Amino acid sequence: AKESGRHQIRAFDVALRDRATGRARALLDLRRALIDEEFELVYQPQVSAGTGVVVGFEALLRWNHPTSGLVSPGDFISVAEETGLIVPIGAGVLRAACTAATSWPEDIRVAVNVSQVQLRSSRYVESVRQTLEEVNLAPERLEIEVTESLVIDDADRDVLVQLSALGIAIAMDDFGTGFSSVASLSRLPLDRLKIDRAFVAPLDADPASSRFAVLRAVIAIAKSLGLDTVAEGVETERQRAMVTECGCDVIQGYLEGVPIRAAEIPAYLHRHPGA
Ligand code: C2E
Ligand code: CA
Ligand code: CA
Ligand code: CA
Repeated sequence: AKESGRHQIRAFDVALRDRATGRARALLDLRRALIDEEFELVYQPQVSAGTGVVVGFEALLRWNHPTSGLVSPGDFISVAEETGLIVPIGAGVLRAACTAATSWPEDIRVAVNVSQVQLRSSRYVESVRQTLEEVNLAPERLEIEVTESLVIDDADRDVLVQLSALGIAIAMDDFGTGFSSVASLSRLPLDRLKIDRAFVAPLDADPASSRFAVLRAVIAIAKSLGLDTVAEGVETERQRAMVTECGCDVIQGYLEGVPIRAAEIPAYLHRHPGA
């Protein structure tokens, strides 16, 4: 018993040490990636539900890792947040996305994901304002996406109010997956509500599902608060028809387009001239 107890303790030590070195390695790897410029952005189209006209692109981060290949943000954003590296990474994302948008038609916006760690970093609003000025993008063409589970306190809210005052649009991302309440929506300076894929996916499987009624209700609430709605993860014609019938304004998902490189956007726009 004594032997196995000691063995357990040793195994536990090893696991702890591995976890610590794993994190340290991930941190070094991320820091090196930043220096070696291994990050790049891809852009997913957002189209008007009624007309199919492209209204914006959401910038999504990719890491071209030298040995692991293309790493998606789900696998490294949390480490980047915990280590604070999300601040310089996010600054690079904002600059690259805003620069890309300057070459698009003026009625097309760029949406950028922002984590709470960034919102809370010092002089965040000033850095955004400065980036827009340096790349010469009108603030109205930038949309910042935040997640409701993260925007919790008054300080976060104040940052959003300041961004909004600059003319930047604010979107609530992944709506319906966090600790959402209508009260929290109405106290934030929002322009758009992005309805999570979790509401969209079941529309296909079970057409008579109460999900249709739920979606309709969510969109009605958004409208009553004066918010535009974006349906995320629309993959099929059927889903598109149903979210459109529910009154959703904008559609984003593989059906309208997968995320593409900036260089591919002119050709995409050429193929999707709108109505
Ligand atoms: P998100 O903001 O909810 O972005 C949408 C995710 O859904 C993207 O995954 C996109 O590729 C995927 N998607 C789009 N259409 C469809 C569809 O029709 N079906 C399905 N199944 N998926 C679809 P991605 O690019 O892996 O990004 C994952 C998450 O990482 C994002 O979720 C966002 O929260 C975060 N993220 C991405 N880029 C950044 C960034 O620059 N900064 C920060 N802080 N977070 C980012
Ligand atoms: Ca997003
Ligand atoms: Ca989302
Ligand atoms: Ca998400």
